Amino acid sequence: MNALATEQLPWHQVPWEMLSIARHSDRLPHALLLVGNAGLGKWQFAQQLAHSLLCHSSDQSGHPCCSCQSCHLFNAGTHPDLQKIIPDPESKSGDIRIDDIRQMSNKEALTAQAGGYKVILIHPAERMTAAAANSLLKTLEEPTAQTRIILVSSYPHRLPATIRSRCQQIRFTAPAKEEATQWLQQQGVTSGAETLLGLSGGSPLAALALSQPEIIQERDQQLAEFLALAKGQADLTTVAARWAKLDQTRTLTWLSGWLIDIIRLQTADGTVQLFNPDQREILHTVGKRLKSKLLHQLLEAVHEARRLADSTLNSQLILEDLLIQWSNGFN
Ligand SMILES: [Zn+2]
Repeated sequence: MNALATEQLPWHQVPWEMLSIARHSDRLPHALLLVGNAGLGKWQFAQQLAHSLLCHSSDQSGHPCCSCQSCHLFNAGTHPDLQKIIPDPESKSGDIRIDDIRQMSNKEALTAQAGGYKVILIHPAERMTAAAANSLLKTLEEPTAQTRIILVSSYPHRLPATIRSRCQQIRFTAPAKEEATQWLQQQGVTSGAETLLGLSGGSPLAALALSQPEIIQERDQQLAEFLALAKGQADLTTVAARWAKLDQTRTLTWLSGWLIDIIRLQTADGTVQLFNPDQREILHTVGKRLKSKLLHQLLEAVHEARRLADSTLNSQLILEDLLIQWSNGFN
């Protein structure tokens, strides 16, 4: 693991201590569900917790010793009592299938070989198919003494309620802006922290991922094109064709961020928190020319497009449709 992955993130301290206390009093739940927005490091936390549980001599606060046999196996990625269930990178659907769950849920697979805990990590848990979730449910209903199952999900509402109710939920929330900014500075982000945090909804790891200058430059260009369409100064088909070649999830995230900011600026005072704090003036100005009903309709269409982003639908047509609605709002 890299340095970032072994370091304890400052905003993880509270959930970590809570679980540490539960563990030392022998009350660590058999199944945990780590929830919260993407970009808060839940997957990293899950792996650190697994490491801690597998180490034979972790310290009082649960940090692994990093020198025992178990730690060596963990660091080499070959620990026999750790199982990570993630979608097959080759699979188009990105789903976690029933076979993946079945493999871990036979009795033998649930028994620790090294005499300590057996840890199973499932991420992203909401990608389990209905059959996979059903199969997991049976395992959750009959817990094995030393086995701990840790599910990670940024969209826990997509999980069956029966799964959610059998796990103890650990909720991760974005740290305060000052704490996040300080952490970003430690990672070498020397400027624009406020914008990056705005764009990522306050999630520091997501902000860090956006911190390459090309990404912000790309947003600036897309926003310029979006605003040019509002003035009838750009060709809609050309813009949609260019956008269709870019990362769709990111484009739709930008779009929803601009629309939400415009809506907020129409209704709130000058101090309202924005996704694009560096674009406040320009978004405020454009918002004066738009009806709030249209903005809400567009936002809904963007959310629908995000839901379909994984599918094989023609993304250029979807984008064209969104941009037509946007341009028409100024006629
Ligand atoms: Zn150790």
